[in-house]
Amino acid sequence: MTMDKVQMTNNDVIVIGSGIGGLCAAALLARYGKRVIVCESHTIAGGAAHSFKRRGFEFDSGPSFYCGLSGTHSLNPVKQILDVLGESLQVIPYDPLGHYHFPEASIAIYSNFQRLHQELQTITPQGAAEFQNFAARLLGLYEGMKDIPTLALRADWQVIFVLLNYARSLAKMLPYLPLVQSSAGAVMDATVKDPWVRRLIDVECFLLSGLKAEGTIAPEVAFMLGERGRGVEYPVGGSAAIVNALVRGLERWGGKLSVGCHVEQILVESGKAVGVRLKNGEILSAPIVISNATIWDTYNQLLRPEDLPTAYRQTALHTPTVDSFIHLHLGIRGDGLENLTGHHVVVHDSQQDITTPGNTCMISIPSVWDATLAPKRHHVVHAYTLEPFAGWERNNNYEQQKKEKAQTLYHALERIIPDIRERVVLELIGTPLTHSHYLRRYQGTYGPAIAAGKGMFPSTHTPISGLYRVGDSTMPGIGVPAVAASGILCANSLVERSQTVELLAELK
Ligand SMILES: Cc1cc2nc3c(=O)[nH]c(=O)nc-3n(C[C@H](O)[C@H](O)[C@H](O)COP(=O)(O)OP(=O)(O)OC[C@H]3O[C@@H](n4cnc5c(N)ncnc54)[C@H](O)[C@@H]3O)c2cc1C
Repeated sequence: MTMDKVQMTNNDVIVIGSGIGGLCAAALLARYGKRVIVCESHTIAGGAAHSFKRRGFEFDSGPSFYCGLSGTHSLNPVKQILDVLGESLQVIPYDPLGHYHFPEASIAIYSNFQRLHQELQTITPQGAAEFQNFAARLLGLYEGMKDIPTLALRADWQVIFVLLNYARSLAKMLPYLPLVQSSAGAVMDATVKDPWVRRLIDVECFLLSGLKAEGTIAPEVAFMLGERGRGVEYPVGGSAAIVNALVRGLERWGGKLSVGCHVEQILVESGKAVGVRLKNGEILSAPIVISNATIWDTYNQLLRPEDLPTAYRQTALHTPTVDSFIHLHLGIRGDGLENLTGHHVVVHDSQQDITTPGNTCMISIPSVWDATLAPKRHHVVHAYTLEPFAGWERNNNYEQQKKEKAQTLYHALERIIPDIRERVVLELIGTPLTHSHYLRRYQGTYGPAIAAGKGMFPSTHTPISGLYRVGDSTMPGIGVPAVAASGILCANSLVERSQTVELLAELK
């Protein structure tokens, strides 16, 4: 340690990583008056939600599906945080929220329930009625949940006092309590027989959690249905706009973001986190360290094995993973594509499981909403599908393997833009190696595959005093709203309840 440069900083909190979870925790803690520094390994902030530019095209590297980013009384935790930071986003509302293309039929999915019902009726009248029952059951749960702002919640026993303030909402939730622990699959089994609608629900759950309905927890689907029923929108400037607003909010309240700042080790002394050592040898000290790296990266890369109880460490590292992705980022000519819509899901083969890598392809073309993301008369396209990490190496075959694997994405795109290949002016193919490299994520995973009933997402607390975790391998799970909620749970647990009450008054 003698060779290290020890930086005598006055940080209260060091956050490792500027994913949405890390930024939300950091910005909120700065808002509470803590001295916060975020150390981000990449040169661009945002983690899975970062955007990047190539030759005039601005690509979302990951998420592009958002709701509740604007307006008042939003339930989206990102919006609640932006509100108390004094930041806002310009958004473009749209509906239908997407088109799902199955081998035998395509369907427009509307956030408006009536319109969705009408669409479903054209394919399966019986299934449409069953879907209504499925949604009604889950929306009952949502009605109870929605009056409790995420910004009020914390991850310790004091949450009991918080919840007491929302006794009426809790009472509304009482009839739905069995659903809280149940899977969307159980709700589907009780309400839906139609195979077409059952597959549709499986696809919707898969898009949300990486697992089908039986593995996806019911409250997550309830929240998704309830929220998107209020409208879907895309932020002007893409996902980067959300990241930039959070960074502005962090800095406005005195926090700092340092990019290109890789943390090599979390320093633990006598069972307590005391700071971090950076790749350049510098040491930053603080009594609180929050890791936004995944559970596998935090416990395997950033801590020494002896820092954690052996059994705890082993169990944590055995958390199952959802696969990684193969990505196709394209810049295309846009002439003659005036009626193009922005979100599509293509399922190639009905005989194969929807979770089989390559079978379900997600597509987003955000320049249909925000033309500034592409040069004039062009579009920016992002298509991706699950792809296992195993079998990928940067060897002589790598470029060829990339081209071959991208074919399933091109086939999916041909359902929407038949002459897509002739339109391409820029092609970038990302593999699980790319995903793991740029997002600094173990095996480029989408996140933990913790199925409903098979365990819970771990809490923000760790066995090491002063060390906390946020992001998609903590409660409540994967997705931008969920990781923002994880940031809230962590930040609120580090301050007095009265401070949160003051902040909530501002939200009102
Ligand atoms: C292709 C794709 C599409 C998606 N689509 C949607 C969508 O439409 N809607 C939605 O809500 N969600 C979507 N998601 C999910 C959502 O994007 C993620 O769940 C969420 O962004 C993850 O955020 P996070 O805070 O867990 O951390 P991450 O985004 O993983 O960020 C962690 C950060 O920590 C940094 N880091 C790691 N280790 C270190 C270190 N040692 N030192 C310094 N920094 C470090 C990383 O560089 C990274 O910036 C999608 C995800 C993917 C991959």
